[in-house]
Amino acid sequence: SGPLLVVENLRVRLDAGKTQVRAVDGVSFSIDPHETFALLGESGCGKSMTALSLMRLLPEAGHIETGKVLLDGLDLLGLPEIAMRAVRGKRIAMIFQEPMTSLNPVMTIGQQIAETLHRHTDLRGEAAQGRVLELLDAVGIPAPQARYHDYPFQFSGGMKQRVMIAIALACEPDLLIADEPTTALDVTIQAQVLELLRRLQHERGMAVMLISHDLGVVSEMAQRVAVMYAGEIVEMAGREEFFANPQHPYTRKLFASLPGAARRGQQLEIIRGSVPPLDQEFSGCRFAGRCDFAWQKCREEVPAWSEVTSGHQVRCHLLESPEHAACEAAATLP
Ligand code: SF4
Ligand code: MG
Repeated sequence: SGPLLVVENLRVRLDAGKTQVRAVDGVSFSIDPHETFALLGESGCGKSMTALSLMRLLPEAGHIETGKVLLDGLDLLGLPEIAMRAVRGKRIAMIFQEPMTSLNPVMTIGQQIAETLHRHTDLRGEAAQGRVLELLDAVGIPAPQARYHDYPFQFSGGMKQRVMIAIALACEPDLLIADEPTTALDVTIQAQVLELLRRLQHERGMAVMLISHDLGVVSEMAQRVAVMYAGEIVEMAGREEFFANPQHPYTRKLFASLPGAARRGQQLEIIRGSVPPLDQEFSGCRFAGRCDFAWQKCREEVPAWSEVTSGHQVRCHLLESPEHAACEAAATLP
C-alpha cells in the first residue's frame, strides 16, 4: 500500500494589502498510514499554512497557487467544496494550539461532540450520546456522565484540549493534524496530552501530522521529521537519523538553541536574526542571511536537494560542495 497523503510542490500566496507573500513555496512530502510525521520550524515559516491548505481552510487572504494534495489518491485540491466538507472531520481532522477558540462557549461539551457525530455519521439520540461518553472516556476525562453537560469554561486548558481531541477522533479520521497541540499548556499537562496522542495514534492506527516549533516534542512523538524554513522544507529524515545526524545549518541552529529538556515549550529565540519576510525575492538560499557558513554561491544559487543517506535529504550547498564544507569546518575550529 502506498502513502496515505502525498503533497506535491505546494505553493500558497497570501495577499497582505498590496503586498503578496509566498507563505509556502514548493513544499513536497508524503505521510504513510499510521505514521507520525512532524513539520518542525519557528513560527511564521509556513507550517500552519501548509496544514490549512491540506484541509482547504486557508484564511481569506490565502490562495493555493499550484500543487497537488492526494489523500489515498483522491485529489483534494480538485474536489468540489461539498465533497471536501465530507473529507474534513471524517478523513482528516485537525486540532489547534488554542482549544478555547475552537470550542463553542454556549454549548455543552457533550453537545459539541454529538454535533460532529451528527454531521459525519448516522449516530443519533442515545447511540450518539453513548459514543460521546466513550470518546470522553478514551481521552481521559474523568466522570464522562457528569461532564457531558458541562460548558467549556468549566474545563481547564488541558481538559479542553482533550475535548478537542475527542471531537477530532469522533469520526475516526485516517489523518489527524495537530498544530502545536500542547504549546498553550503547562509542562506537566503537555506531557499528559502528548502521551494521550501517542496512545490514541497507536490504538487507532491513524496517521498524525504534528506541527511544532519544539524539538523535545518532536523527538518524543515523530517517526519522520521535516524542517521548514521561510516557506520551504530544508531537511527531511527519519527520527533516529535526524537527531543523530542533523545536517542543515538551520537545523543545527535549532539544536544548538536547545540546551536540554528543561527548555521544552519555550520559543526558539537564540537564533540570530529572524525569519525573512516572505515578500522578499530570493536569488539564493533563504537562510543565507542567518547562516554562519554562507559564501557567495549561497547568495546566488538556490541549493538543490542532496541525499545524505537513504531517506535523509538536505537542501544546502555545503552538501553539494563537500570540499568547501571541509574548509569551512576547519576554519571554524577553535
Ligand atoms: Fe548556509 Fe549556504 Fe547551506 Fe544556505 S546553502 S544553509 S547559506 S551553507
Ligand atoms: Mg503556526
